[in-house]
Amino acid sequence: QLSRRLATVGSFVRSGARVADIGSDHAYLPAHLALTNQISWGIAGEVARGPFENAQREITRLGLSAQLEARLADGLAAIQPADRIDTVTIAGMGGPLIRHILAADPRRLTGVQRLVLEPNVGEATVREWLAANRFAITAERILTEDGHTYEVICADRVSTPVSYSAEEQLFGPYLLRERSASFLAKWTRELQREQRAVTQMQRAKVSPTAHLKAAMAKIKLIEGVLA
Ligand code: SAM
Repeated sequence: QLSRRLATVGSFVRSGARVADIGSDHAYLPAHLALTNQISWGIAGEVARGPFENAQREITRLGLSAQLEARLADGLAAIQPADRIDTVTIAGMGGPLIRHILAADPRRLTGVQRLVLEPNVGEATVREWLAANRFAITAERILTEDGHTYEVICADRVSTPVSYSAEEQLFGPYLLRERSASFLAKWTRELQREQRAVTQMQRAKVSPTAHLKAAMAKIKLIEGVLA
């Protein structure tokens, strides 16, 4: 049974896609997509040997070797031009790592039309990269599962420039408009966390460093959205 988090990522993979799931671990996501005939072919990319072997085992166990290939590689290096990958999924990592993976080798994204990303923290830096690289966010979801809140971002390649306001980058352009219960709960928690951090910095009498200023700017944005 696939988690709701990964099922949500999978729901944005177009029917017939050729997908590369980077940081795939057990290959649960691409295996599910292959088993349900949602994709025509896929790669489960893994940088670590243990997870790569998990992916290989899962693919063999499910008899999916014709539809899926596990590859031991760092980030997008798992993708070769001949694979004709059109969709990349990256889930369950921090936003800065997802951004690093996307930025490290942009040539590997030639031909990729859609990115489906699930950063578990630091979503804003992912949205910033998407806009700077002409990927427009076309859908977003926020969901709470087992006490954790997850955001899923679907972005498509466009030929025109893309830009997001500071609010859109932090909260997500779609999530901001939707203001779901999960969204409001998440940002209420984040506000308290930032306020605690600022209090601690002020008590420690640190001079107004970039860190403190950034926290105060974030608080202002969150208060604006929750108002
Ligand atoms: N994507 C799965 C999910 O969402 O359930 C697994 C997430 S797991 C927490 C993160 C995985 O990403 C780990 O298996 C790790 O080895 C892999 N990973 C981290 N950095 C990577 C990189 N640069 N290239 C490929 N895989 C990477």
